[in-house]
Amino acid sequence: MKVTDYFDKTAGQTLISFEVLPPPKGGGMQAIFDSLDPLMEFKPPFIDVTYHREEFVYVQRAGGYFEKISIRKRPGTVGICAAIVHRYGVDAVPHLICGGFTKEDTENALIDLNFLNINNVLAIRGDARKFDGRFVPEEQGHAYALDLVRQIADMNAGKYLDENIENGERTDFCIGVAGYPEKHFEAPNMDLDLAYLKAKVDAGANYIVTQMFFDNAKFFEFVQRCRDMGITVPIVPGLKPITKEPQLSSIARNFYVNLPHDLVSAVHQAKTAEAKRQAGIEWCIAQSKELKAAGAPCLHYYTMGDSKTTRQIAEAVF
Ligand code: FAD
Repeated sequence: MKVTDYFDKTAGQTLISFEVLPPPKGGGMQAIFDSLDPLMEFKPPFIDVTYHREEFVYVQRAGGYFEKISIRKRPGTVGICAAIVHRYGVDAVPHLICGGFTKEDTENALIDLNFLNINNVLAIRGDARKFDGRFVPEEQGHAYALDLVRQIADMNAGKYLDENIENGERTDFCIGVAGYPEKHFEAPNMDLDLAYLKAKVDAGANYIVTQMFFDNAKFFEFVQRCRDMGITVPIVPGLKPITKEPQLSSIARNFYVNLPHDLVSAVHQAKTAEAKRQAGIEWCIAQSKELKAAGAPCLHYYTMGDSKTTRQIAEAVF
Protein backbone atom coordinates (compact mmCIF):
# COMPACT_ATOMS: atom_id res chain seq x y z
CA MET A 1 0.00 0.00 0.00
CA LYS A 2 1.09 3.57 -0.58
CA VAL A 3 2.33 5.71 2.30
CA THR A 4 -0.29 8.34 1.49
CA ASP A 5 -3.06 5.70 1.49
CA TYR A 6 -2.20 4.97 5.12
CA PHE A 7 -2.54 8.67 5.91
CA ASP A 8 -5.88 8.85 4.11
CA LYS A 9 -7.16 5.71 5.82
CA THR A 10 -6.27 6.92 9.30
CA ALA A 11 -6.99 10.64 8.87
CA GLY A 12 -7.10 12.30 12.28
CA GLN A 13 -4.79 9.71 13.85
CA THR A 14 -1.02 9.93 14.14
CA LEU A 15 0.92 6.96 12.78
CA ILE A 16 4.45 5.96 13.69
CA SER A 17 7.26 5.06 11.30
CA PHE A 18 10.96 4.30 11.57
CA GLU A 19 14.06 4.83 9.48
CA VAL A 20 16.88 2.29 9.51
CA LEU A 21 20.35 2.27 7.96
CA PRO A 22 21.83 -0.72 6.12
CA PRO A 23 24.53 -2.37 8.24
CA PRO A 24 28.16 -1.65 7.35
CA LYS A 25 29.39 -3.99 4.60
CA GLY A 26 30.20 -7.36 6.17
CA GLY A 27 27.27 -7.12 8.59
CA GLY A 28 24.16 -9.26 8.28
CA MET A 29 20.41 -8.78 8.06
CA GLN A 30 20.03 -9.95 11.66
CA ALA A 31 21.26 -6.57 12.91
CA ILE A 32 18.33 -4.90 11.14
CA PHE A 33 15.85 -7.44 12.48
CA ASP A 34 17.28 -7.07 15.99
CA SER A 35 16.73 -3.32 15.82
CA LEU A 36 13.22 -3.59 14.35
CA ASP A 37 11.79 -6.58 16.25
CA PRO A 38 11.31 -4.59 19.50
CA LEU A 39 9.55 -1.81 17.57
CA MET A 40 7.02 -3.79 15.58
CA GLU A 41 4.41 -3.89 18.37
CA PHE A 42 3.84 -0.17 17.66
CA LYS A 43 2.55 -1.22 14.22
CA PRO A 44 4.45 1.05 11.86
CA PRO A 45 2.71 0.84 8.47
CA PHE A 46 6.01 1.54 6.72
CA ILE A 47 9.74 1.54 7.42
CA ASP A 48 12.28 3.65 5.55
CA VAL A 49 15.69 2.31 4.55
CA THR A 50 18.38 4.86 3.77
CA TYR A 51 20.67 4.76 0.74
CA HIS A 52 24.41 5.34 1.01
CA ARG A 53 26.43 6.11 -2.07
CA GLU A 54 30.08 5.29 -2.54
CA GLU A 55 32.65 7.28 -0.57
CA PHE A 56 36.29 8.00 -1.20
CA VAL A 57 38.76 6.75 1.37
CA TYR A 58 42.53 6.95 1.47
CA VAL A 59 44.33 3.65 2.06
CA GLN A 60 48.00 3.58 3.00
CA ARG A 61 50.03 1.25 0.75
CA ALA A 62 53.50 -0.28 1.14
CA GLY A 63 56.08 2.44 0.77
CA GLY A 64 53.87 4.91 2.65
CA TYR A 65 51.93 6.39 -0.25
CA PHE A 66 48.13 6.79 -0.04
CA GLU A 67 45.74 5.45 -2.62
CA LYS A 68 42.33 7.08 -3.03
CA ILE A 69 39.72 4.37 -3.50
CA SER A 70 35.97 4.41 -3.81
CA ILE A 71 33.90 2.06 -1.63
CA ARG A 72 30.26 1.63 -0.68
CA LYS A 73 30.23 1.13 3.06
CA ARG A 74 26.51 0.43 3.46
CA PRO A 75 25.10 -1.31 0.39
CA GLY A 76 21.90 -3.36 0.38
CA THR A 77 19.01 -0.89 0.57
CA VAL A 78 16.72 -2.72 -1.86
CA GLY A 79 17.49 -6.17 -0.43
CA ILE A 80 16.76 -4.91 3.09
CA CYS A 81 13.44 -3.48 1.91
CA ALA A 82 12.45 -6.82 0.39
CA ALA A 83 13.50 -8.63 3.60
CA ILE A 84 11.45 -6.22 5.76
CA VAL A 85 8.34 -6.74 3.63
CA HIS A 86 8.85 -10.50 3.77
CA ARG A 87 9.43 -10.73 7.54
CA TYR A 88 6.97 -8.18 8.90
CA GLY A 89 4.38 -7.76 6.16
CA VAL A 90 4.71 -3.98 6.35
CA ASP A 91 5.68 -1.64 3.53
CA ALA A 92 9.27 -0.60 3.08
CA VAL A 93 10.33 2.74 1.65
CA PRO A 94 13.74 2.69 -0.02
CA HIS A 95 15.54 6.01 -0.30
CA LEU A 96 16.64 6.69 -3.84
CA ILE A 97 19.29 9.33 -4.42
CA CYS A 98 20.66 11.26 -7.40
CA GLY A 99 24.32 10.95 -6.38
CA GLY A 100 26.16 8.14 -8.16
CA PHE A 101 23.22 7.32 -10.46
CA THR A 102 22.87 8.03 -14.16
CA LYS A 103 19.28 8.42 -15.34
CA GLU A 104 19.60 4.93 -16.81
CA ASP A 105 20.74 3.53 -13.43
CA THR A 106 17.76 5.24 -11.82
CA GLU A 107 15.36 3.79 -14.35
CA ASN A 108 16.75 0.30 -13.82
CA ALA A 109 16.57 0.67 -10.02
CA LEU A 110 12.93 1.73 -10.31
CA ILE A 111 12.19 -1.23 -12.57
CA ASP A 112 13.65 -3.57 -9.92
CA LEU A 113 11.51 -1.94 -7.22
CA ASN A 114 8.42 -2.16 -9.41
CA PHE A 115 9.02 -5.87 -10.05
CA LEU A 116 9.43 -6.39 -6.31
CA ASN A 117 6.09 -4.64 -5.77
CA ILE A 118 7.80 -1.94 -3.69
CA ASN A 119 5.69 1.07 -4.59
CA ASN A 120 6.99 3.77 -2.27
CA VAL A 121 10.25 5.72 -2.63
CA LEU A 122 11.79 8.70 -0.90
CA ALA A 123 13.42 10.72 -3.70
CA ILE A 124 16.38 12.77 -2.52
CA ARG A 125 19.51 14.28 -3.95
CA GLY A 126 22.16 12.98 -1.55
CA ASP A 127 25.01 14.94 -0.05
CA ALA A 128 28.40 15.80 -1.46
CA ARG A 129 31.05 13.12 -1.12
CA LYS A 130 33.60 13.91 1.59
CA PHE A 131 36.37 15.08 -0.70
CA ASP A 132 34.18 16.73 -3.35
CA GLY A 133 33.27 19.83 -1.37
CA ARG A 134 29.96 20.25 -3.19
CA PHE A 135 27.42 17.87 -4.66
CA VAL A 136 28.58 16.67 -8.09
CA PRO A 137 25.95 14.84 -10.13
CA GLU A 138 26.89 11.84 -12.20
CA GLU A 139 27.38 12.54 -15.88
CA GLN A 140 23.92 11.82 -17.31
CA GLY A 141 22.54 11.93 -13.77
CA HIS A 142 20.29 14.31 -11.87
CA ALA A 143 21.55 17.46 -10.16
CA TYR A 144 18.45 17.94 -7.96
CA ALA A 145 15.81 15.78 -6.35
CA LEU A 146 13.29 17.67 -8.48
CA ASP A 147 14.66 15.99 -11.61
CA LEU A 148 14.51 12.59 -9.91
CA VAL A 149 10.87 13.20 -8.96
CA ARG A 150 10.15 14.10 -12.59
CA GLN A 151 11.73 10.87 -13.81
CA ILE A 152 9.65 8.78 -11.37
CA ALA A 153 6.49 10.68 -12.34
CA ASP A 154 7.31 10.00 -16.01
CA MET A 155 7.55 6.26 -15.29
CA ASN A 156 4.23 6.46 -13.45
CA ALA A 157 2.88 7.82 -16.74
CA GLY A 158 4.49 4.97 -18.69
CA LYS A 159 7.27 7.17 -20.09
CA TYR A 160 10.74 5.57 -20.15
CA LEU A 161 14.07 7.07 -21.25
CA ASP A 162 14.04 5.09 -24.49
CA GLU A 163 11.54 6.96 -26.62
CA ASN A 164 11.05 3.84 -28.73
CA ILE A 165 9.23 2.19 -25.83
CA GLU A 166 5.56 2.62 -26.57
CA ASN A 167 2.86 1.69 -24.09
CA GLY A 168 5.48 1.10 -21.39
CA GLU A 169 4.12 -0.29 -18.12
CA ARG A 170 2.97 2.50 -15.86
CA THR A 171 4.64 2.17 -12.50
CA ASP A 172 2.65 3.32 -9.48
CA PHE A 173 5.18 4.87 -7.12
CA CYS A 174 4.15 7.01 -4.20
CA ILE A 175 6.89 9.63 -4.00
CA GLY A 176 8.18 11.18 -0.77
CA VAL A 177 10.63 14.09 -0.70
CA ALA A 178 12.70 15.85 1.95
CA GLY A 179 11.78 19.20 3.53
CA TYR A 180 13.77 21.40 5.91
CA PRO A 181 11.98 23.33 8.70
CA GLU A 182 15.26 25.21 9.29
CA LYS A 183 16.15 25.53 5.57
CA HIS A 184 18.49 23.32 3.56
CA PHE A 185 22.01 24.50 4.32
CA GLU A 186 22.84 25.33 0.68
CA ALA A 187 19.72 27.40 0.04
CA PRO A 188 20.38 31.16 0.10
CA ASN A 189 17.08 31.74 1.92
CA MET A 190 13.94 29.99 3.12
CA ASP A 191 11.72 31.46 0.39
CA LEU A 192 13.84 29.93 -2.35
CA ASP A 193 14.14 26.59 -0.52
CA LEU A 194 10.35 26.45 -0.19
CA ALA A 195 9.90 27.36 -3.86
CA TYR A 196 12.05 24.36 -4.80
CA LEU A 197 10.10 22.19 -2.37
CA LYS A 198 6.88 23.29 -4.05
CA ALA A 199 8.40 22.47 -7.43
CA LYS A 200 9.03 18.90 -6.20
CA VAL A 201 5.40 18.60 -5.12
CA ASP A 202 4.13 20.12 -8.36
CA ALA A 203 6.28 17.60 -10.25
CA GLY A 204 4.54 14.69 -8.51
CA ALA A 205 5.79 14.29 -4.93
CA ASN A 206 2.98 12.93 -2.76
CA TYR A 207 4.30 13.72 0.72
CA ILE A 208 7.16 15.40 2.58
CA VAL A 209 9.34 14.06 5.40
CA THR A 210 11.30 16.67 7.30
CA GLN A 211 14.84 16.86 8.43
CA MET A 212 15.14 16.36 12.20
CA PHE A 213 14.39 19.42 14.34
CA PHE A 214 14.32 20.03 18.09
CA ASP A 215 12.03 23.06 18.28
CA ASN A 216 8.44 22.31 17.30
CA ALA A 217 7.76 26.00 16.66
CA LYS A 218 10.07 25.73 13.65
CA PHE A 219 8.08 22.77 12.30
CA PHE A 220 4.71 24.49 12.81
CA GLU A 221 5.98 27.61 11.06
CA PHE A 222 7.35 25.50 8.19
CA VAL A 223 4.01 23.71 7.75
CA GLN A 224 2.16 27.03 7.78
CA ARG A 225 4.47 28.51 5.16
CA CYS A 226 4.04 25.42 2.98
CA ARG A 227 0.26 25.65 3.27
CA ASP A 228 0.29 29.38 2.54
CA MET A 229 2.10 28.76 -0.73
CA GLY A 230 -0.25 25.99 -1.79
CA ILE A 231 1.65 22.85 -0.74
CA THR A 232 -1.20 20.61 0.37
CA VAL A 233 0.48 17.17 0.67
CA PRO A 234 1.01 15.51 4.08
CA ILE A 235 4.09 16.74 5.97
CA VAL A 236 5.68 14.18 8.29
CA PRO A 237 7.96 15.43 11.07
CA GLY A 238 11.30 13.59 11.40
CA LEU A 239 12.54 13.14 14.98
CA LYS A 240 15.81 12.10 16.55
CA PRO A 241 16.47 12.06 20.30
CA ILE A 242 19.75 13.31 21.72
CA THR A 243 21.28 10.39 23.64
CA LYS A 244 24.85 11.56 24.22
CA GLU A 245 26.28 14.96 25.12
CA PRO A 246 28.67 15.21 22.12
CA GLN A 247 25.63 14.99 19.81
CA LEU A 248 24.68 18.50 20.87
CA SER A 249 27.41 19.80 18.59
CA SER A 250 27.76 16.91 16.10
CA ILE A 251 24.06 17.07 15.17
CA ALA A 252 24.17 20.85 14.87
CA ARG A 253 27.26 20.53 12.66
CA ASN A 254 26.12 17.63 10.47
CA PHE A 255 22.45 18.47 10.04
CA TYR A 256 22.52 22.29 10.18
CA VAL A 257 19.84 22.46 12.87
CA ASN A 258 19.48 24.58 15.97
CA LEU A 259 19.27 22.94 19.39
CA PRO A 260 17.18 24.99 21.84
CA HIS A 261 18.96 26.33 24.91
CA ASP A 262 16.65 24.49 27.33
CA LEU A 263 17.52 21.15 25.71
CA VAL A 264 21.23 21.90 25.74
CA SER A 265 21.07 23.01 29.41
CA ALA A 266 19.11 19.94 30.46
CA VAL A 267 21.72 17.65 28.88
CA HIS A 268 24.65 19.68 30.24
CA GLN A 269 23.25 19.74 33.76
CA ALA A 270 22.47 16.04 33.99
CA LYS A 271 25.20 14.38 36.06
CA THR A 272 25.64 10.94 34.49
CA ALA A 273 25.69 9.58 30.93
CA GLU A 274 22.37 7.84 31.61
CA ALA A 275 20.81 11.01 33.04
CA LYS A 276 21.95 12.93 29.92
CA ARG A 277 20.37 10.28 27.72
CA GLN A 278 17.13 10.51 29.71
CA ALA A 279 17.12 14.31 29.32
CA GLY A 280 17.34 13.91 25.52
CA ILE A 281 14.62 11.26 25.54
CA GLU A 282 12.30 13.39 27.68
CA TRP A 283 12.74 16.25 25.21
CA CYS A 284 11.87 14.00 22.29
CA ILE A 285 8.82 12.62 24.13
CA ALA A 286 7.56 16.14 24.81
CA GLN A 287 8.13 17.10 21.17
CA SER A 288 6.32 13.96 20.00
CA LYS A 289 3.30 14.49 22.27
CA GLU A 290 2.89 18.06 21.09
CA LEU A 291 3.18 17.08 17.41
CA LYS A 292 0.67 14.29 17.91
CA ALA A 293 -1.77 16.63 19.66
CA ALA A 294 -1.36 19.05 16.74
CA GLY A 295 -2.50 16.32 14.32
CA ALA A 296 0.74 15.31 12.58
CA PRO A 297 -0.12 12.45 10.17
CA CYS A 298 2.83 10.38 11.35
CA LEU A 299 5.89 10.70 13.59
CA HIS A 300 8.97 9.43 11.77
CA TYR A 301 11.85 8.40 14.02
CA TYR A 302 15.46 8.28 12.86
CA THR A 303 16.33 5.19 14.89
CA MET A 304 20.02 4.95 13.94
CA GLY A 305 19.89 1.35 15.18
CA ASP A 306 19.00 2.37 18.75
CA SER A 307 15.77 0.45 19.30
CA LYS A 308 15.96 0.75 23.10
CA THR A 309 15.68 4.53 22.95
CA THR A 310 13.09 4.54 20.17
CA ARG A 311 11.01 2.03 22.09
CA GLN A 312 11.08 4.09 25.26
CA ILE A 313 9.80 7.11 23.31
CA ALA A 314 7.15 5.13 21.43
CA GLU A 315 5.87 3.61 24.71
CA ALA A 316 5.43 7.07 26.19
CA VAL A 317 3.74 8.57 23.12
CA PHE A 318 1.64 5.80 21.49
P1 FAD B 1 17.14 18.99 -3.28
O1 FAD B 1 15.67 19.03 -3.12
O2 FAD B 1 17.68 18.71 -4.64
O3 FAD B 1 17.72 20.37 -2.74
C1 FAD B 1 19.14 20.54 -2.57
C2 FAD B 1 19.47 22.03 -2.55
O4 FAD B 1 19.30 22.57 -3.86
C3 FAD B 1 18.57 22.87 -1.64
O5 FAD B 1 19.36 23.90 -1.11
C4 FAD B 1 17.50 23.43 -2.58
O6 FAD B 1 17.01 24.67 -2.11
C5 FAD B 1 18.29 23.59 -3.87
N1 FAD B 1 17.50 23.31 -5.08
C6 FAD B 1 16.54 22.37 -5.22
N2 FAD B 1 16.10 22.35 -6.50
C7 FAD B 1 16.82 23.28 -7.17
C8 FAD B 1 16.85 23.70 -8.52
N3 FAD B 1 16.04 23.18 -9.44
N4 FAD B 1 17.73 24.69 -8.87
C9 FAD B 1 18.56 25.23 -7.95
N5 FAD B 1 18.57 24.86 -6.63
C10 FAD B 1 17.72 23.89 -6.27
N6 FAD B 1 20.99 11.40 2.09
C11 FAD B 1 21.48 10.23 1.63
O7 FAD B 1 22.57 10.19 1.04
N7 FAD B 1 20.79 9.05 1.80
C12 FAD B 1 19.59 9.00 2.42
O8 FAD B 1 19.00 7.92 2.54
C13 FAD B 1 19.03 10.23 2.90
N8 FAD B 1 17.81 10.26 3.48
C14 FAD B 1 17.26 11.46 3.86
C15 FAD B 1 15.97 11.49 4.42
C16 FAD B 1 15.39 12.69 4.82
C17 FAD B 1 13.99 12.69 5.38
C18 FAD B 1 16.13 13.90 4.70
C19 FAD B 1 15.54 15.20 5.18
C20 FAD B 1 17.42 13.88 4.17
C21 FAD B 1 17.99 12.68 3.74
N9 FAD B 1 19.27 12.63 3.17
C22 FAD B 1 19.79 11.43 2.71
C23 FAD B 1 20.08 13.84 3.07
C24 FAD B 1 19.86 14.58 1.74
O9 FAD B 1 20.39 13.81 0.68
C25 FAD B 1 20.57 15.93 1.83
O10 FAD B 1 19.92 16.75 2.78
C26 FAD B 1 20.81 16.65 0.52
O11 FAD B 1 21.81 17.65 0.76
C27 FAD B 1 19.61 17.35 -0.07
O12 FAD B 1 18.69 16.47 -0.54
P2 FAD B 1 17.26 17.00 -1.11
O13 FAD B 1 16.57 15.86 -1.70
O14 FAD B 1 16.59 17.83 -0.13
O15 FAD B 1 17.83 17.94 -2.32
